[in-house]
Amino acid sequence: MAFSDDVRQELARVIPSARCCRVSELSAFYDLSGFLLGRHNQFLDFNTSSPFVARKILIMLKGLYSELPTQVLVVRSKSRRSQICTVRVLGRAHAGQVYQDLKEQSVVGEAGIPRKKCCRRAYLRGAFLVSGSITNPERTYHLEFSSEQSRVADKILAALWSLDLEAGLTQRKGSLVVYMKDGGQIASLLGLMGAHSALLHFENVRVMKEMRNQVNRLVNCETANVDKTVKAAVAQLEDIELIDSVIGLEELPPKLREVARLRREHPYASLQELGELMRPKLSKSGVNYRLRQIREKARQLDKLVPKH
Ligand SMILES: [Zn+2]
Repeated sequence: MAFSDDVRQELARVIPSARCCRVSELSAFYDLSGFLLGRHNQFLDFNTSSPFVARKILIMLKGLYSELPTQVLVVRSKSRRSQICTVRVLGRAHAGQVYQDLKEQSVVGEAGIPRKKCCRRAYLRGAFLVSGSITNPERTYHLEFSSEQSRVADKILAALWSLDLEAGLTQRKGSLVVYMKDGGQIASLLGLMGAHSALLHFENVRVMKEMRNQVNRLVNCETANVDKTVKAAVAQLEDIELIDSVIGLEELPPKLREVARLRREHPYASLQELGELMRPKLSKSGVNYRLRQIREKARQLDKLVPKH
């Protein structure tokens, strides 16, 4: 199952205990998928593709309003692959009362977001349940909410910002998309919404990925060093060949001749390894000094050799 569905199922089981939070979460459902319908506004509908979310809406409505007349409708698409579940509040008076309560809730505080932090978390949970999605963290870090109404997208954005979460806004196929890209920030939001199992999984993946990256960085670093060593050795061998072909290695002072001979015999040895092979042994910087002298000699000779 997609990670998004895991998160949704987990959040669908979270029923806030405080009345303020229940109303806030329902107001998110209404903002994103609710309608007042009928010639006399006698229906208030909440639509969702998830039966788990429909069940949650029903439980919260029944908890807030005793003896609220409701109806659940399920419409399947022709292919039967998707469905729309509608939780409907019946009757003008009831629909009107719920509508009024949710509207009042949705205009409190700055930027139209709930004043209390607990309620802003509940609002985001509701918004995610209806319009949110999250990419499997194995692939990449991406969480988003989408809405066709700019008022609602702004509200989600403001709620995220008010909780110190970074989020951006973009447009896609006529919808406004509020998105988050940072792994740490997404983890915080999962925690704030109450998706604790999903958060645990998300963080495990994040730790594994971070470790893998570190290992890769080390391997790359190692490879780069090996590259450098090989390139330097190739240049040294070229210098030695040049000297040998122009004047012959026997013309070099004994100390340089020895290092040139060892380099030829051990083309892939590091400077330190070459030093170990010398008699008497020589330090890495000592070997380096002699190889630089060879280089210098080769440069001088190179200038003398006529070029074609
Ligand atoms: Zn609250």
